[in-house]
This record gives sequence, C-alpha cells and structure tokens, in this order.
Amino acid sequence: MAAAAAGILPWNKILGSPKNDTRTYKGGLVVSTWIHGLEANDAAWEVISKGGTAVDGAEMGVRVVEADPEGQSVGIGGLPDRDGNVTLDACIMDHTGNAGSVCFLQNILHPISVARKVMDDTPHVMLAGEGAKQFAIANGFETVDLLTPKSREAWENWKKESQYKPIINIENHDTIGLIAMDLGGNLSGSCTTSGLGFKMHGRVGDSPIIGAGLFVDNEIGAATATGLGELVLKTLGSFLIVELMRQGRTPQEACEEAIRRIVKRNDVKDMQVGYLAVSKNGEIGAYAIHKGFNYAVHKNGKNILIDAPSLLQ
Ligand code: ASP
Repeated sequence: MAAAAAGILPWNKILGSPKNDTRTYKGGLVVSTWIHGLEANDAAWEVISKGGTAVDGAEMGVRVVEADPEGQSVGIGGLPDRDGNVTLDACIMDHTGNAGSVCFLQNILHPISVARKVMDDTPHVMLAGEGAKQFAIANGFETVDLLTPKSREAWENWKKESQYKPIINIENHDTIGLIAMDLGGNLSGSCTTSGLGFKMHGRVGDSPIIGAGLFVDNEIGAATATGLGELVLKTLGSFLIVELMRQGRTPQEACEEAIRRIVKRNDVKDMQVGYLAVSKNGEIGAYAIHKGFNYAVHKNGKNILIDAPSLLQ
C-alpha cells in the first residue's frame, strides 16, 4: 500500500479549487471510498499517470480491492447472503456517458470487468444473476469459489442467532466507489461490492445502479456512494449530487444536501451512508450521515486518507 500520509497537507490544500472555477482540472486525480481506496487509487494512478484513460484507471483501481480475500465487503472474501452465497454487484461509467453493470453475480472474481464488458461489447447496461455469469464465462472469465474460510465462519456465527433480517450496522458498509479524472480532464467511475452482509438472497443494493451507487457526467462531475443501499436507491443519491453540482453547488455542498434529504425522511440511528463527489474543476466533496466514513484522495502527488465530515456527531 502506498504511503498513507494522512495529515501531511491541510485538506483544503489537497481538495480545494477556487469556488466557481469553471476550468477543467488537468492534473489527474483519483478518489475512492474507505481505507482500501489507498491501494485502489495507486493502481488507478498507475494507469492515469502514464496517460491512460479515466475509465481504464477506474476499472484497474477497484480490481485490486476485488481480488483481496481479506476484505469482507468487496469481491472474493465478501460476506455472503443469509443462505451462504456471495453475490456481487458492480458498475462502471465513462466520460461519454456510457455505462455497464452487473448485479447478483456469483463465482466471478472481477465483476467490475464484467460490467466493463457489458458496457463495451453489448447494447445493454445491466446483466443480472445467471445471465451475467454466463456472459462472463462466454467472455473468458473463470469461475471461482468466492466464500473464504473467514467469511464462512462469520456466516456460521451469524446463523447461530439466525436473524432473518440484515443487521444494519453503521460500520458494516465498505463498498469501493472510485472516481478517476485523467490528464485530459475526462471523468469516469466504478463501484463494486458484495453488498450488505447476510442480506436476503437476491437482494441488490445501490452499487450497480447507475445514478444510485455511481453517476458520471463529464461536463459537470461525478459522485459515488457507500452505505445502506436502500437509502441511496430511494433518493438516487449519486445522480442527485451531480444534478446539484450542475445547478452550481460545490461537490461538498451537493453531498451535504443529498445526505440531508435521506435524514429528513428516515430514522437513521443505525444507518450509515457516505457520499464522495468530484467536480470538473477537480474539487472534491464528501459527507456522511454518521462519523466514521473516510476516503482516499490521490491528487497533487499524494495519496492520503481523509475523514469525511458528517451530519450527526
Ligand atoms: N452500498 C452497499 C449496498 O447497499 C453496501 C456498502 O456500501 O458496503 O449493497
């Protein structure tokens, strides 16, 4: 993992661009959710710093996290559903507004790359379940067992109580959402997850839904979400943030408004949502319902982890 130089620079130096700066940022940047974002940012930056495209960076970045068996919220090693199946959701969106997505996908190591194939090689946006798996196999993806001993054990322990209702724990959400801006100033994003631990079989969250878990508009900016997907789905959070930026809000102001809309209508005591957004001028915003959400920023030659501010303390 690259130097997690938290605290080296004041956050406004890293994140800030003058408000109302309408120029396109051309320095390249990568942001992504949670601590695993540091590794993802490094992998994405490898691509972007060599002149690669934002969409390639976005795909390559999150693949690192999907392949890590220790992480229990993305890819292999993800917590299974209540019946013991690891089911994966992912989406990708590029600077042209093209998008691809897979949901309820089983036994495939890199759902983000299947989503990319859906985007690049089919006339569709989303493939689900068995159809997505068959598409992946037909395109050369191998099948693998995604349930690691560690996650099997967590499931066995959960089954002892066997509450057929997912426990909505504010710490239990670690989807990776990543936004990349290449040296040409183009934006793309990716989002990938194993979803809520011990969810109902067949449950799909916000992460593979374009506009909910991720949205990119290359003229305006991009946003991604983590946390309890149901709350994000009901407010189409990432689309909302980009639309608020279109109306002149900064990424920070837009993330704050999107969180306020959730909190206004829901009892969010045990529910976390975190948003992360980037505007075309390279400004970054992040906000969460509760404390504890952090995100990684690769900008100006540094890759650092930053604690997001939250509405509730
Ligand atoms: N948003 C994801 C979902 O609801 C969970 C997470 O962020 O970890 O599936």
